[in-house]
Order: sequence, then structure tokens, then C-alpha cells
Amino acid sequence: MSKHVIEDAMRCLQCRTPMCTKGCPVETPIREVIRLLLDSKIAEAGSMLFENNPLSLVCSHVCPQENQCEGHCVLGRKGSPVQISAIEQYISDYYLNIHKPHVSKRTRGKVAIVGSGPAGLTIAFLLSRRDFDVTIFEANDRIGGVLRYGIPEFRLPRRVLDQLMDALFASGVRIRPNTAIGTTLTADDLFRDGYQAIFLGTGVWRPRRLNIPGESLGHVHYAIEYLRNPSVYRLGKTVAVIGAGNVAMDVARTAFRQGAEEVYVIARRGEESLAALPIEVQFAKIDGTQLMCYKEPVRFVDEGVVLADTKLERDEAGRERVVRVPGTENLFPVDSVIIAVGQGPRAVIVSSTQGIEVTEQGLVAVDESGRTSRPGVFASGDVVTGARTVVEAVRLSKKVAAAIEEYITSLAG
Ligand SMILES: Cc1cc2nc3c(=O)[nH]c(=O)nc-3n(C[C@H](O)[C@H](O)[C@H](O)COP(=O)(O)OP(=O)(O)OC[C@H]3O[C@@H](n4cnc5c(N)ncnc54)[C@H](O)[C@@H]3O)c2cc1C
Ligand code: SF4
Repeated sequence: MSKHVIEDAMRCLQCRTPMCTKGCPVETPIREVIRLLLDSKIAEAGSMLFENNPLSLVCSHVCPQENQCEGHCVLGRKGSPVQISAIEQYISDYYLNIHKPHVSKRTRGKVAIVGSGPAGLTIAFLLSRRDFDVTIFEANDRIGGVLRYGIPEFRLPRRVLDQLMDALFASGVRIRPNTAIGTTLTADDLFRDGYQAIFLGTGVWRPRRLNIPGESLGHVHYAIEYLRNPSVYRLGKTVAVIGAGNVAMDVARTAFRQGAEEVYVIARRGEESLAALPIEVQFAKIDGTQLMCYKEPVRFVDEGVVLADTKLERDEAGRERVVRVPGTENLFPVDSVIIAVGQGPRAVIVSSTQGIEVTEQGLVAVDESGRTSRPGVFASGDVVTGARTVVEAVRLSKKVAAAIEEYITSLAG
């Protein structure tokens, strides 16, 4: 066992009211798990984590812990918090290797899961454990969604997803890869074939555009498409990344690993108000990323990107906004540009299926338990909330799994 994992587990104060659990969106029972680990009951600790959150191992790698469990640890007030993520990772990694899943009896109804990102995976684990007959339909060739085709390998090893896929197969879940619902097969086909409930966990995969001239030029790319398969791109030596959120930092760090020599992140605001977490910015800087604050792209040209200066201004209502400074346009010569200003949902399922209402942003409209406006169709994850986090998708999906169970049970009665 890694020495620091034991040392950190021993630093845990076993608080009567553990703030770390309160800070975790899925209320991981951290105190109990640490106690079990120190009592040499690692399998029990792993089972406790997995029962509460089937994506515990993934979360231990990618959660923004500094705002969640670790950010709430009382030891962090005067020193460094317990490294909960390292402890969770050690236990969950061990557990997934020895895990003997409950094999679904497939007796309680048929559920179709569209999309195998964190939302779909959570539903699949929870409902197969409760003896539902679960089939996942995934547009890509492998499961994982953003976990596989977005978050870079250096932050989340792909073997974690393979471990999860083995666990799914072992629990009796069927997977249909390379099958986008809404194209050849539709949601209506699924109902016709006996699925009693359909879960939509299709995420947000449509890159947000800047709507400026030059966006279709050959050296301009979108972040979510670049991260899907970075090795097929030839970005050249200098790269500008437009946008300053966590995805932009992933792009910058990936570009270096693919051979870029200079990477610039272009932000409309100052460093103190970047959308990315400070730790992600720090890692990007360590890799060599240079921040260019108070700049925005005006147009793309073959030689690079034309940038203008920006400044902060207050409008009549006193709200702060970013405005362009006239007369400051300058060519910034780069070999490639990657646009990382957010994603929205694709409309492929809702446009091919009657009766599913969407919000103004095109997100699937649901009630607090993930029921859409069409009976028997449920949704959660990014396609409902817009781009969020893995643990948030797990949290919502736990509620939705309970609602699907209740719905199918009510059909039988
Ligand atoms: C680059 C990047 C880095 C991120 N880093 C972090 C991080 O460090 N920590 C964190 O907590 N969160 C991070 N996030 C956010 C997090 O990954 C998402 O919030 C999460 O993946 C949402 O899960 P989901 O299941 O809703 O959707 P997704 O992960 O998007 O999965 C949706 C799945 O549905 C499939 N699909 C779509 N349409 C269809 C269809 N018609 N038929 C069949 N399948 C379909 C897709 O192929 C995909 O596999 C990151 C996001 C990005 C883009
Ligand atoms: S799920 Fe995320 S927030 Fe919760 S304990 Fe694990 S790492 Fe921390």
C-alpha cells in the first residue's frame, strides 16, 4: 500500500459530523470507509464505496475535490486536508479487481440506456443490481462518453473504463456499441421491442461556435472534437486555445503532449476570473501554457487569429461585462487554433422522437426525478443540466434509477 495513503488515513480525525461527506455531492461515507481500511477490511470499504457510487474510482481521479470532500475537511482549515481522493482511489482500484458483481436475473423489466457516459453507466449498474434487463446503446465504439473521448488519458487512465466495462458485462448488462439511437433505430423502435423505460444520457457534444469569420478555415478546430482523438491532428508548433475553462486547459496540456512547442490560452477576462479551476490552470502552466488575458478573437485568417483587447465595464444596471477596446486589432500568428467555449446538446434523439420537451437551450426538460414529458422516457447528466461534472451526473442518475424502478413496478401493478 502506498505509504502516504496509510499516513493520510491515519490523519483522519473520524469527526462525529464529517464535513467531507457533506461536501461530497454523493455523500460518500468517507469516515466509515477510512475506518474499515485501517481495520484491514479493504474489501468491505470498497464495497461500501461501490454501492454508494459505482463510479467511485473515476471520481477519485477527476472530481474537483478541492471544492468538495477535501475542501470541507476540517484539517484543511489550518493545514492540508486528508487526501481523500488518494484513499478512495487506492480502495476502489483494489475493489474493482476483486469485485464479483451480482448477476442480474433480468426479471423486473427491460430498460434501454442511450449513452454510456457517467449518467448511463450509473443507471446501468444500479438497475442491473436490482435485476432489471439492461441494454446500453452507445454511438461510439467504446463505453465512457467524455471519460473516454474527452478527459485526457494522463488525467484518467483508460484501464479504469475497461475495468468498469468488465464489471458491466459480468453483471449481465448488454452493450450495443456503434449504435446511435435516433438514426437507424429510434426510441419508438425500442418501445416496440419491449423496453418499458428508456433512459437518455446523451451528454452535450455539439461544440459552441464563436460565429466569427474564418471559423471554417483548415487550422481552426473545436476542443471536444480535438480531444476525441488528438493524435490524428497536425497542429504545428504554435497553438492558440480560445476560452479559459477546464476543457481549454485539457486541450493545452494535450497539445504539448502531441508535440506543440508554444500554447497560448486566450481569455477575455483576467487570470483571477478564469472559468478553469486554479489547480487546472497551475498544471497547464507547469506544462508551459501561456495565458493571454483581456483578449478576444475577432476573426481567423490563414496566418493565425486576429485578436482585440478587452476591458471590463459596468452597464446601466451595474452589471460587469466584457467589452472590446476599439482600434486594438492585431494579428497573432499561430499554426492552429482550438475553440473551447463550451458545448450544447445534439438534437438527434429529441428530433426523431415525439413528445420529449426541451428547454430553450435544447436541453431535455425533466422533473426532479428525471422524468421527461413522455411517459417511460427519463434523462439525466449533461443533456439535462448542461456541461457539469461526473459526480453531479452520478448524483442525479441515482435519483433517476429509483424513478425508473418505481415506474416499471407501477406498470406491473
Ligand atoms: C474535456 C472535458 C474534461 C472534463 N473534465 C472533467 C473532470 O475533470 N471532472 C469532472 O467531474 N467532469 C469533467 N468533465 C465533465 C464531465 O465529463 C461530464 O459532466 C460528464 O461526462 C457528463 O456525463 P454524461 O453521461 O451526461 O454525458 P457524456 O459523458 O457526454 O456521455 C454521453 C454518451 O452518450 C453517447 N451518445 C450521444 N448521443 C447518442 C445517441 N443518439 N445514441 C447513442 N449514444 C449516444 C455519447 O457517445 C457518449 O458516450 C469534463 C468534460 C470535458 C468535455
Ligand atoms: S466522489 Fe468525489 S467528492 Fe465525493 S468523496 Fe469521492 S472524490 Fe470526493
